[in-house]
Amino acid sequence: MKAVTIGLEVHVQLRTGSKLFCSCPTDFGAPPNTQVCPVCLGLPGSLPVLNKEAAELAVRAALALGCRVNLRSEFDRKHYFYPDLAKGFQITQERQPLASGGALELATGRVALARLHIEEDAAKLIHRPGATLIDYNRSGLPLVEIVTEPCLSSVEQVGDFLANLRRGLEQAGVTDGKLAEGSLRCDVNVSLAGGERTEIKNLNSFRGVAQALKYEIERQESLLDRGEKIPATTRRWHEERGETLPMRSKMTGGDYCFCPEPDLLPLVLSQDLLAKAGAGLPEMPWLKRARFCRQYSLPDSLASLLSCEQELAACFEAIVAEGGKPRAAAKLLLGPLSYLRKGGRGTALSPSQLVGLLRLEEEGSVSATAAKEMLARMYANPGTAASILRAKEYRQISDRQLLREIALKAIADSPEPVADYLAGKERALGSLMGKAMELSRGQANPSLLKEILLAELGNKI
Ligand code: ZN
Ligand code: MN
Repeated sequence: MKAVTIGLEVHVQLRTGSKLFCSCPTDFGAPPNTQVCPVCLGLPGSLPVLNKEAAELAVRAALALGCRVNLRSEFDRKHYFYPDLAKGFQITQERQPLASGGALELATGRVALARLHIEEDAAKLIHRPGATLIDYNRSGLPLVEIVTEPCLSSVEQVGDFLANLRRGLEQAGVTDGKLAEGSLRCDVNVSLAGGERTEIKNLNSFRGVAQALKYEIERQESLLDRGEKIPATTRRWHEERGETLPMRSKMTGGDYCFCPEPDLLPLVLSQDLLAKAGAGLPEMPWLKRARFCRQYSLPDSLASLLSCEQELAACFEAIVAEGGKPRAAAKLLLGPLSYLRKGGRGTALSPSQLVGLLRLEEEGSVSATAAKEMLARMYANPGTAASILRAKEYRQISDRQLLREIALKAIADSPEPVADYLAGKERALGSLMGKAMELSRGQANPSLLKEILLAELGNKI
């Protein structure tokens, strides 16, 4: 397997009410070509005016990602001909981007960012048999493009990065993160040791990114293995065919004839705007994950899951603050409680009630099974949580005499498994344990019960 080098260019739509350079609305799903004006249709003589809200959200995105914000950035024209670009150029930031640097420290490795800049979206092409339709509603929507260094090395890391990026920017309130609506689209650059890089354009689902990357890595590998060269090309992912197809030979900076945009002033940021844009930024999920590992000695797997969702992470920390053990709290939240929460309701259970439950289980007063049952009942009716925690019916039976009676009854009731066990079929013990557990109504201390059951079976030999 050859070393793989991957770089990403991610386009994220900013959550604004109006477009980047005009006042047209940004609502998704409006009838085609109803949210347009001379500016976003690219009519001659129309002039762009920068949307302040978009600039602020772009700065907020840069701050969330730990980029260096350039207090002065500039707009440029990127020229190319394509039906979705009526002006013949896209307004972007080439020479001096809004921000540079930054990194995401992920469980799968550090992903360094090269730059983050503001640019306008192009119109949407809708391909029909025999015709291509154009919807200009998308033309001029505000985007930030986030460019990573070519430092990613696996499909898994790319997935981890995109999931974190989307979550972080969503939590920061920068984007709605709706992939199906094209709020996050990705261009992927990939090369293998010894080959040129190819670019796959416009992937709008994480699954598409993973599939296209896998396909492209295998394609390049087999070309190189046969001693063939890989030309630098731009390709597109054909979802139905499950392959990447060449679009054109790769355009380089020179091909786009970048030039300064004469109709827009440089974007100069005041300290005030910077402070306002960064106000109340939540802790980003990748930073939270790292902190959870450090502070609570959690393994990466648990910390990653907990840090995905703000509410979940807050609940975890509240439980720990009430004296819950971090690992037990994490397992409760990610296991039985997450299962209950799938119903969509939040939990009205207080951290101290959850800690109460964890304690009972920890000290062996209730079994893991009983704890799950109690949780389900507490969850269904939080008002009764306190009495459920006190209820005797869930307490684990650790009384040896009582357990012995249960074991003897299970043995008496199950002649077949007993005979099987005595004939050397170890697996029959499982059904005896099940029977005994059932007789105890799930309350028997399992390890003690097993010990006693084995002893009683031993007496029969
Ligand atoms: Zn417009
Ligand atoms: Mn771009």
